[in-house]
Amino acid sequence: MDAMGNPSPIERDWLKILEDHSPEARQLLARVAKKNAPSFADRFYAVLLSDPRSSAFITHQAVEERLHASFEQWIEELLTAFDEEKIPSLVKTQKHVGSIHARVNIRIELVLRASRVMKRAVFFALIDTKTESVDYAIRREAALLAMEIIDLAIEVMSGQYTLASEEATRADQAYRSYAATVNMSLERESQRSALFNWSNRLLQDVMIGGEKEPLARLAQSSFGLWIRHKAHALFPTQTELNEILQLIDTVDRQCLPAVEEAQKSGDAATLRARMQAIVSHTEQLRVALDSLFDEVIRVESGRDALTQLLSRRFLPSVLSREIALARETGLPFALFLVDIDHFKSINDRYGHDVGDRALQRVADQLTLSARSGDFIFRYGGEEFLIVCVELTAKGALSAAERFRREIESLSIELKDHAPLKVTASVGVTVYDGHPDYERLIKQADEALYRAKEGGRNQVVLHESHAPVSTPQAI
Ligand code: GH3
Ligand code: MG
Ligand code: MG
Repeated sequence: MDAMGNPSPIERDWLKILEDHSPEARQLLARVAKKNAPSFADRFYAVLLSDPRSSAFITHQAVEERLHASFEQWIEELLTAFDEEKIPSLVKTQKHVGSIHARVNIRIELVLRASRVMKRAVFFALIDTKTESVDYAIRREAALLAMEIIDLAIEVMSGQYTLASEEATRADQAYRSYAATVNMSLERESQRSALFNWSNRLLQDVMIGGEKEPLARLAQSSFGLWIRHKAHALFPTQTELNEILQLIDTVDRQCLPAVEEAQKSGDAATLRARMQAIVSHTEQLRVALDSLFDEVIRVESGRDALTQLLSRRFLPSVLSREIALARETGLPFALFLVDIDHFKSINDRYGHDVGDRALQRVADQLTLSARSGDFIFRYGGEEFLIVCVELTAKGALSAAERFRREIESLSIELKDHAPLKVTASVGVTVYDGHPDYERLIKQADEALYRAKEGGRNQVVLHESHAPVSTPQAI
């Protein structure tokens, strides 16, 4: 019912179903429902309990102790309450059940499946001529009434289930975006110092505390509590988080008891060695904590930490939008894949740090070369993807050639060596009206492959755009 006291559409449907059937049919249904409610509940839970998907929500014990009885009550009420005044409260009950299902996260199709089997049982109980000597026409009417009411109840439940699940998803998203607004750099500092405080205190306790009390466990420290309760919202899918949990567990269950044992035995050398193990675990924790934050700061800002370019996470959004724009305006855009040549040997020869610096320099150069409307992504290790907006094949080729030349003329100063030179190969393609952006990336990749094959340090336009049938190198 709404605020004005008018029945809702569902309540109106409910009433109409009841009014459509004769008093005899309703009475028959009420009698059969009262008598058979326990066996309907049996059928319903037999299906649920035999389905492996429901084992997470439901146990035999819960069915025996609570659920069977409340189901009996539910089905009996549903199939015997025929007064108009009862309809609003019946609707309310179905909504309530739907909310509970959403809260426990039971899959809606499981409920539908069990209900389907239960409906068969209701149908046959009504049709069965052995138990009631009533006209076939009345039986048929009662069976139809029962089916309609059960369906209506499930409809209300499912509607509420969807509403409640959406609400839960919204709340979850809101919580995640709240989590995303946490100042990650500050949070990192405070967790670093929480870990430091714990190890400092441990050191003091071991040195001056004697052996009166058990040593403070890391899981119960401010750092441990934060990791166990809050970190999952900030780092929902990080493997580093599991690594940290594992390390905490090792410290608490193995390292600390070993130290306590050594304290008791009074053997200074053993104690030192065991404390050393804790120091090394704490160091591992610090490294894992840092990389956990690094990754999330990178992803949340949408920027690659090393090069400050866009992270490829945003590629689908950018490309879908550019495709829509190109369709609207008729102006194509170009997509370049830029891959540094023989980059592995740069790492091998000068070390990873120099490799990193080379990547940064190339990224900076690409940013300078591109127009401000273009998009530059760090696509992979030493691969960049550039979306050049409003460009035809001809324009794309000369722009890509310019990018290539500018990379070639970079000079990266090194301490003990002559300046480092790098080159890159570029695969180019142009939007051709096809809606799938994966196809564009694949084309650019094919062109890049040709550029590498053709000797590197060159630009190749994908063959579908080239005026001749062979790939065009410049
Ligand atoms: P090609 O000319 O065929 O492209 O040869 P390549 O050596 O550039 O290609 P390959 O894909 O074999 O090697 C890429 C190397 O890039 C391997 C990897 O160690 C290195 N790399 C990837 N990401 C980074 C990074 O962030 N920093 C550094 N320093 N190196 C990286
Ligand atoms: Mg590569
Ligand atoms: Mg390469």
